[in-house]
Amino acid sequence: MAPHATHNLLSQEEGALRARALRVIPGGMWGHMNVARLPAGYPQFFRNARGCRLWDVAGAEYVDMMCGYGPIVLGYGDPDVEAAAAAQRDRADLMTGPSEALVELAELVVETIPHADWALFAKNGTDAMTACVTIARAGTQRRKVLVAKGSYHGAAPWCTPSLAGVTAEDRAHIVHYEYNDIASLERAADEAGNDLAAVLVTAFRHDVKRPQEAPTLAFAQAMRRICDATGAALVLDDVRAGFRINIGGSWEPYGVRPDLCGWSKAIANGHPLAAVTGNDRFREAAQQVYVTGSFWCAAVPMAAAVATIRKLRATDAIATMEAMGRRLREGLEQQARTYDLPLRQTGPVQMPLIMFDGDPDFALGHRFVLEALQRGVYLHPWHNMFLSSAHQAADIDRVLEATDGAMKDISRSFDRRQLAKAAP
Ligand code: PMP
Repeated sequence: MAPHATHNLLSQEEGALRARALRVIPGGMWGHMNVARLPAGYPQFFRNARGCRLWDVAGAEYVDMMCGYGPIVLGYGDPDVEAAAAAQRDRADLMTGPSEALVELAELVVETIPHADWALFAKNGTDAMTACVTIARAGTQRRKVLVAKGSYHGAAPWCTPSLAGVTAEDRAHIVHYEYNDIASLERAADEAGNDLAAVLVTAFRHDVKRPQEAPTLAFAQAMRRICDATGAALVLDDVRAGFRINIGGSWEPYGVRPDLCGWSKAIANGHPLAAVTGNDRFREAAQQVYVTGSFWCAAVPMAAAVATIRKLRATDAIATMEAMGRRLREGLEQQARTYDLPLRQTGPVQMPLIMFDGDPDFALGHRFVLEALQRGVYLHPWHNMFLSSAHQAADIDRVLEATDGAMKDISRSFDRRQLAKAAP
């Protein structure tokens, strides 16, 4: 096996690609996949992937705990999804109009997702969430949109986390509330008054660099109550969690149904697709707004989505992700006790976030993920990770072997006083 990247020492292949990229791509890479955001040593470029394994351009193999930041839910190169995609590709992908797969997919989505009376499709989560906002405004003839502080809904001017190039006008009708804080939600709704078009909420609190948090039932119900009382649309952003928590939508277990919902990531196991689902109240508005894109009707991703959703329904994929996530969480807890490290695991077990208490600058977190990386396991220090149904017990045990080595090394040399000082 090729050696893994080590702290500050990149493979020749990686170094050469980075140098070429820097000349022709601003910063060498844009957005969330720029590894300049991670501690030095992470590979920027990959060559192939299969199941839950990933190989970098120097041939080093990793158990991938990111699943492409979420889209891979059945494993890379799932044979059933790829067979459906290949069969569609043989006929055609992009054409002058949509294929039959569009109708088949919309029927399957409406049948699978209880709140959905209709569906439309796009490419990215940002497309889906922006369309939800536009449809809500068209349907209510109002402007104000409530957004939780720190929640990510995409990279368009109305919601991107960086304010570079964003004008005050882009954000003029966004009102913030605090996730899981009913009083702040009520205040924000009062502020919007009779101009309230939509209340947006992520499936759970999965903001980067802070512990993840499930919505309380009372909070979810308060959202529904406020929307029912005011006529605003309850918009669930299931882009990240969709198809991993519950096949019918992440808030199904709460019995709280949204009016509109945005989906992407896992919907087609890595093929580019997003969806908006909605109820009949917003059907006419969805028909009025103009949303489209050159590639939105490509047939291959739709055929892949049909195969993905069918497989998720027909198998115990979600239960497998949960069982494997639990195996990982319990193993890590045990190791943290053994090595006396203040590990904090949050979020649903199949979308874990692993951080350390008293480590605001990620000094310990960065060391931990780099030690794991050198042992062939790709973790993230401050973004939630993702399991797929291709992660089997032996893969999780490989991960635990790496984390055991990482924690053992750290516990020998880490100065705990650094943590004590930083702790609140
Ligand atoms: N909403 C949420 C909750 C997300 O996690 C993301 C992507 N990370 C988006 C929206 C935007 O999706 P995309 O990157 O596909 O535009």
